[in-house]
Amino acid sequence: MDYQSGQHGGAVEPADTAAPPQRLSRSPEEAALAAQRRFRQALIEAGLLIPTGVDGLYGRSADFEAIADGLNAAIGALGADQQAEVMRFPPAMARQDFEASEYLKSFPQLAGTVHSFCGSDRDHHRLLARLDAGEEWADQQRPTRVVLTPAACYPIYPVMAARGPLPPQGRVVDVLSYCFRHEPSVDPARMQLFRMREYVRLGTAEQVAAFRAQWIERGSALAQQLALPWQLDLANDPFFGRGGKIVADGQREQKLKFELLIPIHDDAPPTACMSFNYHKDHFAEVWPLRTADGARAHTGCVGFGIDRLILALLRHHGFALARWPSPVRELLGLRHV
Ligand code: ATP
Ligand code: ZN
Repeated sequence: MDYQSGQHGGAVEPADTAAPPQRLSRSPEEAALAAQRRFRQALIEAGLLIPTGVDGLYGRSADFEAIADGLNAAIGALGADQQAEVMRFPPAMARQDFEASEYLKSFPQLAGTVHSFCGSDRDHHRLLARLDAGEEWADQQRPTRVVLTPAACYPIYPVMAARGPLPPQGRVVDVLSYCFRHEPSVDPARMQLFRMREYVRLGTAEQVAAFRAQWIERGSALAQQLALPWQLDLANDPFFGRGGKIVADGQREQKLKFELLIPIHDDAPPTACMSFNYHKDHFAEVWPLRTADGARAHTGCVGFGIDRLILALLRHHGFALARWPSPVRELLGLRHV
């Protein structure tokens, strides 16, 4: 099966052309879900994604990972002039730092906490008995000091604050992590565990503004080099609850978040594959992040959704990597794949 695209942004023939004709009265939401299911099924049948039975949790094939490696190398080359400090964390962070970050204020619905069995022999017997009986057992688990990382940049702020004031030129950090968000979906582009590569800027408001403007340019140039159709848009995060709408409106009004969107499904809105974020001095309110002259540091980050970019490439250039446009293969080091 070949999910080949003709033109940028052009219509892609669904893989299951033999499927029965769709009801004409389908709502846009139903049409989007059907397109997402179709693409996911095609990816699974091609072996690019390996299903686990849980929406949003997949294994990846060698081809998929070769593209991931290529993207990471290309992004690294784009940021080679940033004098960024490379930091790699496992996909988890200290619960204490997570609590301090106020993530739970904004996105309780997305958070993933790690729980473990901490009981006695008797508790263990009870646990096994419940398992045997097919009863709920997870309420026996106790929270550990570890939570799953919700965004690649989160673990670095307390580390940076502990080092004392920033140098006058501020800092740039290069992070890459699997991130967890509890948002199960049939959309293969909305995973529960996915990779985010980020450059994070810490410094003055001016330094962060210049950094974000520069990375909006660079991110757009990368999408262009990857021969993907794209558009930039103002965006907001999915803040929880009734108060969340007000916070999201404020985020838009202050232009704190931009996204680079790429169409991945025929009948659905385009998907955010990169984001360009300005946090103002939020993280300096939580941790003692200070500039060289003692003021609260501002921060911002550019995030590349590695798995979403891979899906966009597969969607537009097809599942046969050998037939991708040569410049794209060249850029991603896929010459021999
Ligand atoms: P969305 O609006 O689609 O939920 P987001 O704006 O919350 O995404 P960010 O928090 O800005 O995403 O994360 C940075 C990047 O990580 C996004 O641009 C996207 O490419 C990627 N990303 C975010 N959520 C997911 C997910 N559930 N599955 C795969 N990639 C994701
Ligand atoms: Zn970030």
